[in-house]
Amino acid sequence: MKIFTTRESLGNYLGQLRSKAQTIGFVPTMGALHPGHLSLIAQAQLHNSVVVCSIFVNPTQFNDPKDLEKYPRPIASDIEKLETAGCDVLFNPEVKEMYAGNEHWHLVLGELEHLLEGEFRPGHYQGVTQVVYKLFDIVKPDNAYFGQKDYQQVLVIQKMVQLLNLPVSLVMCPILRETDGLAMSSRNIHLSADERQHALILSRSLNYFSDSFNKDNLFELLETCKKMISSEPGVQLEYFEAANADNLHPADQNTENIVVLVAAKVGNTRLIDNTILGNH
Ligand code: AMP
Repeated sequence: MKIFTTRESLGNYLGQLRSKAQTIGFVPTMGALHPGHLSLIAQAQLHNSVVVCSIFVNPTQFNDPKDLEKYPRPIASDIEKLETAGCDVLFNPEVKEMYAGNEHWHLVLGELEHLLEGEFRPGHYQGVTQVVYKLFDIVKPDNAYFGQKDYQQVLVIQKMVQLLNLPVSLVMCPILRETDGLAMSSRNIHLSADERQHALILSRSLNYFSDSFNKDNLFELLETCKKMISSEPGVQLEYFEAANADNLHPADQNTENIVVLVAAKVGNTRLIDNTILGNH
């Protein structure tokens, strides 16, 4: 695997490949790689000549400085995992390589930016679009792979691609879970053994919702699931919502495609999860 830390060196290398008509698949990450990330690499390998992964803990998308500081950065083991997965290129820049100064960025994302995650993490999606735009500009991928785990992020990036008319196809990949149902996340390593057990209430409540849902019990089920989560020790619910899968407006009995999304703090660790009804 080739490893680049500067935009210029990566840009030059990929430029050469592109001139030989090689297609580029791109998987942006913040590292602390787990099988969920590697499933995106595997998906990219199926459809592209070259796969580029980036590892960059993007400061502009963190609204909590403590969260940024404690974000895991096990770069040596990440490189090993990418080598084993057969990834072709890693881009692992320093912050100063990506941000020259105090840059201002604002993209008019509309209500998507303020709903759900946006309400609890103000400014988060401006930071996400800022870094993904920069990364797309350097890598110029044909296809870019994102996890359903961050469902709202996929919609936000789709919106950016439409607004700026970017020449990239986005692919959303399924959520990888531990055998007990917990959605894989780089943040799971912060959970104590007890918290790890309590965290299962997120996937359990989503499963309960999917299994019990019919058009007439939506609001009642939402309340039941919120109560299930709130009564779990050490778990502080932020939201549990059923939403229109296209725009994240609250769902009602007439909504065709529904995604159910949850966010909660388990101890000090903030976790998110979701499920698309009908896919379960
Ligand atoms: P992150 O490093 O958390 O920014 O995640 C990088 C990419 O991996 C994002 O597109 C995530 O949605 C995706 N991802 C994270 N966790 C999972 C998972 N459990 N299954 C599939 N994809 C995931």
